[in-house]
Amino acid sequence: MLSYDNITLDTFQTSWLPAQLSAAMLRLDKIHPEVSGNKWFKLKYNIAAATADHCNGILTFGGAYSNHIAATAVACKEAGLACMGIIRGQEHDGHLNHTLQTAEDNGMGLVFVTREDYRNNITRKTYEALFPDYHVVPEGGHNALGAKGCEDILSIHPTAHYTHILCAVGTGTTLAGLINSAAPHQHITGIAVLKGAAYLEEEVASLLHLPQENRPQWQLLHDHHLGGYAKKTPALIDFINTFYTETGIPTDIIYTGKLVMAFHHLAQQGYFPTGSRILLIHTGGLQGNLSLPPGVLSF
Ligand SMILES: *Cc1c(COP(=O)(O)O)cnc(C)c1O
Repeated sequence: MLSYDNITLDTFQTSWLPAQLSAAMLRLDKIHPEVSGNKWFKLKYNIAAATADHCNGILTFGGAYSNHIAATAVACKEAGLACMGIIRGQEHDGHLNHTLQTAEDNGMGLVFVTREDYRNNITRKTYEALFPDYHVVPEGGHNALGAKGCEDILSIHPTAHYTHILCAVGTGTTLAGLINSAAPHQHITGIAVLKGAAYLEEEVASLLHLPQENRPQWQLLHDHHLGGYAKKTPALIDFINTFYTETGIPTDIIYTGKLVMAFHHLAQQGYFPTGSRILLIHTGGLQGNLSLPPGVLSF
């Protein structure tokens, strides 16, 4: 089984961090090379539920580059559960990308459906009916059990002394778990990596269970996606390489690179009051960098 022992809390310095701020990175990326970061937290109680309910396996959904798909395959294998992945978009002449190859190598059965069918609820219902003894995990691990798993993230190391917590946001499940478990004095900021994700506020709110008065302050920022999901710019690649050179911390092009770049902009804009102690959550995703040609990243 996966253990939290590898997860470190690394303070870091960069050339651009103002002297009146301090920053640290919670390295969930170190938990496992494939089930990296937040995906493991989102899966742990889903796996436990599947086992407790004597399900034969897990049925889940995702795009061809989904970290969640690769992570589910590995986590199911470790738990001795079968798994099926319903993948958006048709298979290209039998060639699997790195993410899907990892999933298949770890025993996930892959079913490819067209984008239109994937969006259609009937498709989901059809596969759920085909696998009645499977526990269903929605795309990205976005359910209440997923958020519950993310409530464990802030207690791996002492984190109550941080004033601000930042994480990258896809479905908002991780952000919801952080808000549910943060101290009331902490300020939680999510950086959306999808463009036009105005629905996210409501999705996150639907997973919160603390009464309003005990909730930490939280906010989603929508201006740091650099053009949209998985869109990368030369500036982002440069930033990721420089951040690695300065701190020794590798980040990914889809989530955590954009998180740190957003942190950089916010720090410059005076978003954080003097004396703030900022905790960034490294949610993993480094396997996604394997889609880049060799040599683009310096690590
Ligand atoms: C999936 C993923 C996220 C997004 O998490 P959500 O809970 O869906 O918001 C963030 N970072 C990485 C590296 C991911 O793989």
